Amino acid sequence: MIVGIDLGTTNSAVGIWREGKAELIPNSLGDLLTPSAVSLGDDGALLVGMAARERQSTHPKLTATAFKRLMGSSQKVPLGKKLYAPEELSALVLRSLKADAEALLGEPVEAAVITVPAYFNDRQRKATRRAGELAGLKVERLLNEPTAAALAHGIHEREDKEPFLVFDLGGGTFDVSIVEIFEGIVEVRASAGDNRLGGEDFNEAVVALVRSRLPELAEAAHDSLLKEVMRAAAERTRRALSGADEAPFEFVWKDRHFATSIRAAEFEEAAEPLLARLRDPVLRSLRDSGILADSLSEVILVGGSTRMPIVRRAVTRMFGRFPDTSVDPDRAVALGAAVQAGLRARDAALDEVRLTDVCPFTLGIAVAERDRHGRIHDGIFSPIIERNTVIPASRVHSYSTMQDNQSRVELQVYQGEARDVSANVLLGRLSVPVPPRPAGQVSVDVRFSYDASGLLEVDATVPLTGTARQLLILDEEDAPSEAEIEARRQALAALKVHPRDDAANAAVLARAARCYEGFLGERREAISQIIMAFEAVLERQDPREIESVRRDVEERLNAIEGERYL
Ligand code: ADP
Ligand code: MG
Repeated sequence: MIVGIDLGTTNSAVGIWREGKAELIPNSLGDLLTPSAVSLGDDGALLVGMAARERQSTHPKLTATAFKRLMGSSQKVPLGKKLYAPEELSALVLRSLKADAEALLGEPVEAAVITVPAYFNDRQRKATRRAGELAGLKVERLLNEPTAAALAHGIHEREDKEPFLVFDLGGGTFDVSIVEIFEGIVEVRASAGDNRLGGEDFNEAVVALVRSRLPELAEAAHDSLLKEVMRAAAERTRRALSGADEAPFEFVWKDRHFATSIRAAEFEEAAEPLLARLRDPVLRSLRDSGILADSLSEVILVGGSTRMPIVRRAVTRMFGRFPDTSVDPDRAVALGAAVQAGLRARDAALDEVRLTDVCPFTLGIAVAERDRHGRIHDGIFSPIIERNTVIPASRVHSYSTMQDNQSRVELQVYQGEARDVSANVLLGRLSVPVPPRPAGQVSVDVRFSYDASGLLEVDATVPLTGTARQLLILDEEDAPSEAEIEARRQALAALKVHPRDDAANAAVLARAARCYEGFLGERREAISQIIMAFEAVLERQDPREIESVRRDVEERLNAIEGERYL
């Protein structure tokens, strides 16, 4: 059996082609979406999916999410005492999807079509492929997400040749693509986006609004638990606002219960700066493809965040027409992957044209800055080539000396997105001699040239003296041998993972634990009783009883905090 998989930053989903149409299949909890989250459980076994997502607020250091952002980089993610490569975490998600699909279908799933963002470059694609292999899947092909969304909308069955615009606003990224089909070949004509814009930013806007009403929280501005609790509350409020004009915002922190309510109009006002940021990538994609908005056959909405009415209105205003919402936005990509899997099985696969390569990470150097009081802060990242720049690219920035009479400038080259370089990856160092002068009077021009093979050339010149130094950084192509992959697959297979059958129980217990931390008084007491009763039932190990009590527990938790969300 071959399946289609949307391996998302926030959520993943599996689709199959059955009886002439694509459909999504539910995981062991009965959900069509599986959070792309991995957490190390208290018993040392790994949890994947909802149970892991539920632990994010109670066990942030033991829980990994959004690792798709790191795919193709050498950065590792700590989970407890161990470090995991992003592709290993993705492999754990894929393996869980595979196991759930096999249990449901009653047959082995050997192969998959896996989707990737259109702007993923070679390294990121290879890492995704390896994640599939590590999960024991034959990766039939990688499919661009916007192409998949267009397939779910039947682009391959159309007569007219007008291009589609795919507007994808997910949990943390915003991607706009223009997709066209010509003689059976699907082409992504342009792709633009904002890789720091998604549902999470809208949560932050809600949190900021609430904080402005609760000045007593001002001194706890950096409390990480408070942040997480408010984020979770914002997520609930925001989802509720997708179907109502007003929604409560409630949370507990340090044994105090806070409650307010937010009206849709207030949310819209608070989100205005985010809505404004949706415009630019749309214009850029149209400009880059040379396509006029009027000649688009369709504007299709993809990504859970396009369920927000304020986003739909913004899109309608932008294009002067209603977007196509005939396919559920957070399912379209997996459905499209299933269509491709179906075509594949019938040997009628569509071909795809790859986009131009882009640089996957920001490249820059570490610099020092002086604050208002004259104090020097070092280790600050100064980007030179920004992420998603089309490559080959060459950019130059000029820097000046910080100390009087310094004799050298030490350049440290980093890759990453964090302002603090220690959170980025150090690629190399280059030392450049400079003539002794008062601080700020000698400048050094630093040129970065990056090409499609992953070669970064750093040239530093001192205009005053003509001194030049060069550093070549080769992207150590981390193409492991078949033997290494096999060894890693076995290491991954040997990891203790929570048994599938227990996934639903683990998710409910993790949720109950989170609720316990999040509520007070009577509600907290009620949750405590619920947990104890459920644990007692689990001990008796009667699957029927467990299942019926678990449903009951879920309903009672729903009554306390509202429907659970993915
Ligand atoms: P990704 O592509 O990032 O993996 P999704 O397409 O599943 O993720 O989108 C996840 C985002 O969708 C989350 O930020 C979530 O808050 C948002 N979302 C899902 N349903 C709703 C809803 N009904 N109202 C508002 N936002 C929603
Ligand atoms: Mg997505």
